Amino acid sequence: MTLPAGRTAVYPGSFDPVTVGHLDIIDRAIELFDRVVVAVLNNTTKKGLLSVEERVMLLREVLANRPSVEVCSFQGLTADFAASLGARTLIRGLRAVSDFDAELRIALMNRRLNPDLDTVFLMTRAENLFLASSTVKEVASLGGDIASFVPAPVARHLAARFRPAPPDSEMSR
Ligand code: ADP
Repeated sequence: MTLPAGRTAVYPGSFDPVTVGHLDIIDRAIELFDRVVVAVLNNTTKKGLLSVEERVMLLREVLANRPSVEVCSFQGLTADFAASLGARTLIRGLRAVSDFDAELRIALMNRRLNPDLDTVFLMTRAENLFLASSTVKEVASLGGDIASFVPAPVARHLAARFRPAPPDSEMSR
């Protein structure tokens, strides 16, 4: 991907799946940066519910009307990936104090790995404080309504994923 070095920020994460909490962070980052690259970490040791391709596809669908946003996946160190784009800023969202400890360690490590790289934290909106991809997956898997937690394409995708399988035609005969 060729992006101008300008004010490019990378928003890395799992996005398994993207929620309205992530979208709020992206929309606020758009106001601060010329380009925002939403980067799905292809973590070979952590298998998610959705494949990386599905996550990228859903993010692209949801973010299609935001011209300054690009979606991609990456492997390896976030610090190296940001450097390869000429980006000097990472975006992360913060919910509770419990996020802070881990995020501080990650941010400090990333700056050790790439001294030009800073992390900008955007505080969650109060209504998204308890919203996490893991909770959304759990609610969806139990048949709960997730419409207010995720964009519509994600709700449809998860509903299809967790829809009970039709009765086996052999068995139902
Ligand atoms: P990771 O697995 O790397 O934590 P996630 O996809 O869960 O990735 O989240 C990516 C980033 O978005 C993280 O900085 C996370 O704190 C933030 N985030 C997730 N959910 C919310 C939310 N409801 N409000 C604000 N930020 C959020």
